[in-house]
Amino acid sequence: MQVLFGGTFDPVHDGHIAMIKALLATFSGAQIHVIPNRQAPHRISQGGSLHRLKMLEIAMQDMPEIIVNPVEINRSGPSYTVDTLQQFRLYCGRQESLVLCIGADVVENLEWWHQTTRLANLCHLCILSRVGKKGDLPVGATVFTETGVLGSLFNQPSGLQYHLRTPDVPVSSTAVRRLIVEHGAVLPVPSEIADYIWQHNLYQDTK
Ligand code: ATP
Repeated sequence: MQVLFGGTFDPVHDGHIAMIKALLATFSGAQIHVIPNRQAPHRISQGGSLHRLKMLEIAMQDMPEIIVNPVEINRSGPSYTVDTLQQFRLYCGRQESLVLCIGADVVENLEWWHQTTRLANLCHLCILSRVGKKGDLPVGATVFTETGVLGSLFNQPSGLQYHLRTPDVPVSSTAVRRLIVEHGAVLPVPSEIADYIWQHNLYQDTK
């Protein structure tokens, strides 16, 4: 099984770390990839992609099982998830289970993703809890079959959706960037990441 957790990670924060730990506990034995995007299709990142990648590598240092995968950073143009999944399928074949993990906030926008209807042929969807979000798929994107049985994700290559109950960590990268501009409060990020941010003067002029 290959498990994919993508995002902008601008910067990586305690919420991301809690989700990755939950994935490690849930999908033991799987290869778990954390995948920073190069260029999210609908937004501009504030930190450069190489800083975002480096911060993830630092944050994952004590989790050697996690693969920080630069597949999207190494690809030019907007980072469409469907392209990443295709690349994984080329590498792991059609029979291996591929699980795309996304937060409940992201899932609500799934219908606006590039080629959404192809996703269910390529992967399962694992929806992670996010404070204040229900995580319901929009009608146009309901191409996955809901299951409450985690084991089913291991037994077929794609097509299922599963809600994983994860800890509530009310943190976002937006809030971290705002705290940096306001100088002062302790940032909800690992201390090595806070050090990296201050050393490289990241996010100081975020609007
Ligand atoms: P921003 O505030 O800049 O929009 P973000 O905090 O939402 O960023 P992303 O890098 O965009 O972080 O998110 C990557 C993935 O992690 C997404 O699937 C998102 O839903 C999930 N995620 C981010 N923060 C949390 C959190 N606190 N709890 C659960 N999931 C989260």
